[in-house]
Amino acid sequence: MIDLIDAIHQVLELIPRLGQERLPILQAHGRVLGEDILATRNIPPWDNSAMDGYAVRWQDIQRASPENPVILKVLADLPAGRVYKGLVGTQEAVRIMTGAPIPQGADSVVQVEDTEKFNDRVKILAGPGWGKNIRRSGEDVRAGETVIVAGTILQPAHIGMLASLQRSMISVYQQPRVAILSTGDELLEIDESWQEGKIVNSNSYSLASLVAACGAQPIQLGIARDQMEDLAHKIQQGLLADILLTSGGVSVGDYDLVKALLRDLGQINFWKVSMRPGQPLAFGMISGKPLFGLPGNPVSSMVSFEQFVRPSILKMAGHQNLFRPTFKAILQENIEKRAGLIHFIRCLLVRKGEKIYASTTGEQGSGILSSMVKAQGLIVLPKEQTLARAGEEVAVILLDSAFFYTPFPAYLSLNNLG
Ligand code: AMP
Ligand code: MG
Repeated sequence: MIDLIDAIHQVLELIPRLGQERLPILQAHGRVLGEDILATRNIPPWDNSAMDGYAVRWQDIQRASPENPVILKVLADLPAGRVYKGLVGTQEAVRIMTGAPIPQGADSVVQVEDTEKFNDRVKILAGPGWGKNIRRSGEDVRAGETVIVAGTILQPAHIGMLASLQRSMISVYQQPRVAILSTGDELLEIDESWQEGKIVNSNSYSLASLVAACGAQPIQLGIARDQMEDLAHKIQQGLLADILLTSGGVSVGDYDLVKALLRDLGQINFWKVSMRPGQPLAFGMISGKPLFGLPGNPVSSMVSFEQFVRPSILKMAGHQNLFRPTFKAILQENIEKRAGLIHFIRCLLVRKGEKIYASTTGEQGSGILSSMVKAQGLIVLPKEQTLARAGEEVAVILLDSAFFYTPFPAYLSLNNLG
């Protein structure tokens, strides 16, 4: 039996990063950027008005007030998107809209609220500071600057910035394709008519959904029967993907053929890990592709996925941070366990003020999928611990990313406003 942490290190060392592909930016949300993005020009490209108002020479209007207004001649009306080619001279102004380029000669903008227009003249009622109400060329982004670095996980603001740089296509790390093969003579497909003694192949669905939730592409290969030839054939098929997951057939029963097959291929790194649920778990590299032989029990396969497959998929996809958020919570009941294995205990979470409280979902058998349905997190109890007491702080891995969401703006209570 291998130690869980050693096993995670061993696996991640062998997982390759995938190559890159070029994508339209709208398909790249959540993907990892493969190239540095440089600005080819300034943003904004030219000095432009931050207000609707009048572009003026500051010298003319610096002392303007309601009692002593300054009168300027209005040369033109300049909407955003147009350029005024002339020069603003002494005692002259251009009516300018937000976003329009500042005409030559002008150095400040008076906001429209401080003016009165009459005929082709304007009365300036207040003198703003020099250079006021102008957005400077390059104040957002400078030409030549690296705006987004390779390795960034692309979020909406990045997509918007790429658009403003006119980068419609970019390089990102490829999305891992993950093949999923269930094994077992007892298994029935989801739409098959129910038969006595059979079990529905639910693992294929929970695993495919876990794969999709990591941003990877699941490929369901269906069921391999407990028979060497069928299994070997379907495993070959699965190795066309980037990762192959099997479920079942890795413990010590007579029909546990995945382990036997891996052993025959001489490519088995380990097949038993010091964790519960999920102790039987086979891992090997076959023709350069990682094969995870996950246990058949529904909860074991999901919890093993969390520990090994999720970080592997993220590494392949170019991510640096591979593990879920983990924090301390206050345990609300005693939990007893035997020494020797790390335990992952499905739990419910409650937040009261700054503190988070954890309680178990009840029965923790590795076949109790309903406990996984309820679970918002996994309490992690160290290998040698035998008792965790109510009131103690325990480490919790957050599974439910919506846990911190609230029905009303949480800042109201955090700011003591309501
Ligand atoms: P195994 O490790 O192959 O002995 O499987 C252990 C148990 O997990 C089986 O007896 C089934 O109850 C369950 N199981 C195995 N494969 C699946 C599957 N694909 N979907 C749901 N349950 C499964
Ligand atoms: Mg089986």
